[in-house]
Amino acid sequence: MPAERPGRVIWRDGEFIPWDDAVVHVNAVGHASVSAAFEGVHAYWSPTRRQLLGFRLRDHMRRLVDSLRLGSLRPSFDADELTAAAAGLLARVGAPGRDVYLRPWGFAAGLHREQMVPAGTRAEVVIDSWDFTSKLGQGQTCALAVSSWPRLNSSASPAGLKVFSNYHNGRLGTIDARSRGADWPVFVNANGEVTESSGACIVMVVDGTLCTPDPGSGILDSITRRSVFELAAEAGIPTRTRRIERTELYLADEVFLLGTAAEVLPVVSVDGFAIGDGAQAGPVTRKVESLYHQAVRGALSTHEAWLTAVEPGSA
Ligand code: PMP
Repeated sequence: MPAERPGRVIWRDGEFIPWDDAVVHVNAVGHASVSAAFEGVHAYWSPTRRQLLGFRLRDHMRRLVDSLRLGSLRPSFDADELTAAAAGLLARVGAPGRDVYLRPWGFAAGLHREQMVPAGTRAEVVIDSWDFTSKLGQGQTCALAVSSWPRLNSSASPAGLKVFSNYHNGRLGTIDARSRGADWPVFVNANGEVTESSGACIVMVVDGTLCTPDPGSGILDSITRRSVFELAAEAGIPTRTRRIERTELYLADEVFLLGTAAEVLPVVSVDGFAIGDGAQAGPVTRKVESLYHQAVRGALSTHEAWLTAVEPGSA
């Protein structure tokens, strides 16, 4: 549990309330139920602008509302209202020099004892936040292992739903990968095709082209991936979305993970096969990481529309 600063607030259903007041009854399983949906969003501090820059807030809020609606819950707020709420929260909790992780989530409102909350139940939405330390530009790497648990079948529980219940699969795969000395899993689907990692998508570089599995393989439509592919294309790096076999990962020139939390995380081995020199990021990964780093810190004037700029302490 992250340490809380005094005066910390949380946004709950339209109000900023003190951290200590953000409680639910232990029996209210709606709060922790299979239908609860969430997002993870980053806001990066820009030292030159002296602002916190929420990254693609509205896209994340849109996906949260979509996940709740697909789970037949009824949020009382739309993506624009939630974006404004998140900006208001950043203004209250932000502080110069700190990067902030936002955790918007929604769950069945009220005292439900059953997991199977009825369709049409109102969704309560909260936005929590905590400080995080960005890995961008820090030289971090990771090792992957193909999970012995395959990816949750997307036709049984849609991968595009960012519901907590989908993450049990990610947790099992992560435990499995770590038991074999790796950091993160690679999930394959029922056809043996590469899908994604746990909480991050996968990209390989082959002959200078970024390749990533197509949405039909059963993956979340990553906002980081969309952003990075746009930045790469603008920089003249070719991109492709296609089926990927696990053996292609073993032989790829470079591999990296992408996601809000993973940011751009270079991969140095997959199932013990060294990627590149087996120790550090390759040149294409470094280029892509640098572009993404510039974008999130507001140093690229071409992608200002991705950012919600907030002055900490202004609320
Ligand atoms: N796949 C899964 C299963 C995830 O949970 C995440 C994190 N939200 C991602 C991919 C990456 O998505 P994004 O770039 O939108 O954070």
